[in-house]
Amino acid sequence: MKRAALGYGVNVEVGEVLLSGTNYREKPSSMTQSMKFLITGGAGYIGSHTTLVLLRAGFDVVVLDNLCNASSESLKRVAQMAGRAPIFVEGDIRDRVLLDQLLAQHPVQAVLHFAGLKAVGESVTQPLLYYSNNVEGTVTLCKAMEAAGVFTLVFSSSATVYGDPVTVPITEDQPVGQTINPYGRSKLIAEQVLGDLAASDPRWRVALLRYFNPVGAHETGQIGEDPRGIPNNLLPYIARVAMGKLPELVVFGYDYPTVDGTGVRDYIHVMDLAEGHLAALSALKAKKSRVGVQVWNLGTGQGYSVLQILRAFEAASGRTVPYRLAPRRAGDVAISYANSAKAALELGWTAKRDLSTMMREAWRWQIMNPDGYQTGES
Ligand code: NAD
Ligand code: UDP
Repeated sequence: MKRAALGYGVNVEVGEVLLSGTNYREKPSSMTQSMKFLITGGAGYIGSHTTLVLLRAGFDVVVLDNLCNASSESLKRVAQMAGRAPIFVEGDIRDRVLLDQLLAQHPVQAVLHFAGLKAVGESVTQPLLYYSNNVEGTVTLCKAMEAAGVFTLVFSSSATVYGDPVTVPITEDQPVGQTINPYGRSKLIAEQVLGDLAASDPRWRVALLRYFNPVGAHETGQIGEDPRGIPNNLLPYIARVAMGKLPELVVFGYDYPTVDGTGVRDYIHVMDLAEGHLAALSALKAKKSRVGVQVWNLGTGQGYSVLQILRAFEAASGRTVPYRLAPRRAGDVAISYANSAKAALELGWTAKRDLSTMMREAWRWQIMNPDGYQTGES
């Protein structure tokens, strides 16, 4: 097993601003001292923010990540921010031998499963890669969990499983299955595998968290989204245009039935999303009766158009973002935003950070790290 040095024993000052304004400095009551969790994909964008939230809440964390789309620098920074380090194991979720070793060496109470590939275009050209990582990887992980007697799993799913929604805001009971690319199908199949598994054995407690559009970065600007190459997603693309690294934003579609013709999405701050994972874990652990599979949307319930996002980013950054209107991107839906009442009711969780905070913190991350994690890598 390969373990990266993460600065164990470094003398770190923990800034008081960390997680200010949230309820998660303390452990939720359903969760006891010395709980340890495995976070697959914990070096990535959402996983690193969630690792920070769990460490700061007092839990121990083991991260398994093959670094195919991340840098271990994210975890070094998380360790500095939290004042203690997660255990980091570099490896692949499809490596059953490694998983067995890891779970034997580090008994964990639950797994948060972020590891996966997420680029829609790449999934069209390399479907086997996506089914292997996202479906086979999930199956292998579950086999290893079962063998180790670990039955609590929080899974990173996506609003993409709803396809073109029947109505908005989208509730969890809306039909799924109209996925139009291999990435979306890989998430849907993984959801179905987990549903079948939980139906087969009452010991399983599974949360399917359907994320809407995660954006932003930790308020310190220390960790954030670091896409490789030219970004596919709106926010990192806008940020690079604002930096002058890309010439203009290409707005995909201006004839949708929306406020200004551009696509509408539910953008959620990555720290709100990270905190949603702790709330879901707590809910899974709290239930005395059979839990099975639970589905929760994690969104704000508020939709914004591409041009509204662009204007909000300009206001937050003080920069002009040139743009050009272009035809629709294949596979995009017109409008997608969450009904997040179920998460509010059952998890006691709602997103707290508003659009200007999302934009301001996305921009802070960008200017503090113009080359992403390479900026500070030693
Ligand atoms: P990310 O690419 O930043 O993080 C994923 C992490 O998983 C990376 O660190 C990568 O190195 C690791 N990884 C990938 N395949 C692996 C494997 N086989 N073994 C071990 N590690 C592996 O992506 P993210 O935005 O943080 O997304 C996390 C999860 O949330 C993904 O499953 C993604 O599909 C899902 N999701 C993301 C979004 C989004 O817009 N970011 C939206 C909905 C769902
Ligand atoms: N979008 C855009 N230009 C870009 C990237 C995205 O106009 O360079 C639009 C896209 O058509 C959608 C919204 O921004 O309406 C969010 O797209 P993103 O890829 O970030 O997330 P998605 O909702 O597709 O998962």
